[in-house]
Amino acid sequence: MGYKMIINHGVRGSVPNSSPHTLKYGGNTPCLELKTKKFQLIFDCGSGFSKVNFSNNLETIIFISHFHHDHIQGLPFNNFEKVKNKKILITSAHSNKDIVYANLSKYYSSPYFPVDFLEISNIFEFVDFNDVISRFGDLKINSIDLNHPGNCSGYSVTIKDKKFCYLLDNEYDENQKKDLIKFCNYSDTIIWDGMFLESELKDKKGWGHSSIEQGMIFAKEIDVKNFIISHHSPSRYDEEIDKLQNSFVGTNIKFASENEISEF
Ligand SMILES: [Zn+2]
Ligand SMILES: [Zn+2]
Repeated sequence: MGYKMIINHGVRGSVPNSSPHTLKYGGNTPCLELKTKKFQLIFDCGSGFSKVNFSNNLETIIFISHFHHDHIQGLPFNNFEKVKNKKILITSAHSNKDIVYANLSKYYSSPYFPVDFLEISNIFEFVDFNDVISRFGDLKINSIDLNHPGNCSGYSVTIKDKKFCYLLDNEYDENQKKDLIKFCNYSDTIIWDGMFLESELKDKKGWGHSSIEQGMIFAKEIDVKNFIISHHSPSRYDEEIDKLQNSFVGTNIKFASENEISEF
């Protein structure tokens, strides 16, 4: 598959759901890996983070979209012993490195966690977003403020003529349409927050998520090759996603599937 790979380690929103009904699309919360010749870019550390295979030949950078638990709950659970002679960088576009450290440190210490994980692990280096994006050479990373309770950042990665956008979590709003189109037009892949159906969204205003139908409309308004709906509701079972996927046959819309590897 070459050196530009997207690996979906977790595509479920809010809470992991391991059941016979989520085997096909997966039950782990968000973590997406983008692998290039030099870099291993990780977007969020939901429970899917445990499956990231660290490579000592690549620089690993974790981009946190926001601090809701489904996007950080997997951070301590990986085989860090394999990581040699390097630190894993952690950054976020909307918070400086001290805030990122403070938030994660709070989550991963008493009474929420048995040990002070960040103190004892000594595997991470916290960096400001502006400092980290300057080190990528021909790889360009941008961010956009998303509409989500608390701060939340979407990210785009451009390598030569290829563009990838990660837009979890976001409550789509007509007011952001212009900026969002500008941010992700002419993309090869867009990851869209499709937590709800329109019928469910009316009772979930202010929860910070979009609908699958909003994604469908947005996908038509922009130039994009692969429009991927992710952050599936924990109650969205495989049979229902299959049905929805069938209704999109012949379009560029696809439902994200855990462990799927695609070309960037
Ligand atoms: Zn989420
Ligand atoms: Zn969230």
